[in-house]
Amino acid sequence: MRSKRHYVENKETARKIILEVLEFFAHLYGVKYRKVAIRNQKSKWGSCSKARNLNFNYRVALLPKDQRDYVVVHELCHLIEFNHSKKFWAEVGKTIPNYKEIRKKVKSVSLR
Ligand SMILES: [Zn+2]
Repeated sequence: MRSKRHYVENKETARKIILEVLEFFAHLYGVKYRKVAIRNQKSKWGSCSKARNLNFNYRVALLPKDQRDYVVVHELCHLIEFNHSKKFWAEVGKTIPNYKEIRKKVKSVSLR
């Protein structure tokens, strides 16, 4: 399940699933990103760089839909607020009002 092979075999499917969610929410927020990388990280679900590139763990695609949406929206909102300020969470809350409980669930999923 967590093998290199599982990643290699599922990477492209994961990319499609993640891009679909990403495009939907990027349109809703009216934000533009540059590149999207799908990775096999052991400690992160996703990240966002100041150059507006996004990284997602391929296992985001294996999460239940509400958790997958949350991870994608979280990184997208960093294109608006590059921090975890109140303003940032307000952006997340615009599309995911119950983000607090979903965030807890995502945090409880081990990537190791
Ligand atoms: Zn963040």
